[in-house]
Parts: sequence; C-alpha cells; structure tokens
Amino acid sequence: MKQDCVFCKIVNKELPCYKVYEDDFVLAFLDNKPTALGHTLIIPKEHYENIFDIDSEILKRISEVSKIIANKMRESLGDVLGVSIFQSNGKVAEQVVMHYHMHVIPRRIKDDFRVNNCLKSLELEDNQFKIILDKIRI
Ligand SMILES: [Zn+2]
Repeated sequence: MKQDCVFCKIVNKELPCYKVYEDDFVLAFLDNKPTALGHTLIIPKEHYENIFDIDSEILKRISEVSKIIANKMRESLGDVLGVSIFQSNGKVAEQVVMHYHMHVIPRRIKDDFRVNNCLKSLELEDNQFKIILDKIRI
C-alpha cells in the first residue's frame, strides 16, 4: 500500500470500482475513463510502480488474467472480435498512474482506437539496427 496511490486505494476499498475479476494477487476493474465500452485495467494488489520493479510471478498472473478477460470479452460481447492489450512504463512512456496496470481494450469493427497510429515506422540504416542490437541483445 502506497499513500496517495489511487489504485492502492481501490485495492483497499477506499475508492469504489466496477470489479471484473479478483484473486489473491490481482484485481481487474473497468477503467473509469474508458477508450471503449468494457475497457478493463488489470493491476497487482501489491503496489509495484511498473515493469521495472514488478515481481515476475505477479506479472505472469496478470498475463494469465488478461487471457481470461480477453476470452470472456470475445465470448460475452457479441460485437467484440478482438482485444488490444498494452501498458506503459515510466513518465516518458506516458504512464499516468504510477501503479503497474495493463489495459485490455475490447475491439469492435470500425471503432476509433487506432494502434497503428502509435506504431509509425522509423527509417533505419542497417548499421543503426546493428548498433541498437549490440546494446539490447540479451
Ligand atoms: Zn499503488
């Protein structure tokens, strides 16, 4: 529990939420500023800021829960044919609430959510690929 963390307050029931799923480690609820009807956030109950500090087992659980929720959305919402799943880490990545959260966004034909607008390609030379690869290859 971190003071003044809005998601910790939701976990602690100090703030309400529209709960989608809960287990011992994970809570999922409707985003109160949804991009689409059914837009859901999955968070760890324990406070982790983002991908850089989250416990790996908790991260695996969040991933499993995202699959459960995605399947439920597709099965239960007749017009949902897919989902987009993403999350941001760090202020530079436009993370706003500094408690790890994964977005699960139901996708409908002709919705307004355009992932590919965010994924415009850079034009890179071969040596630029090699330089960055040398730095991040594990
Ligand atoms: Zn928190």
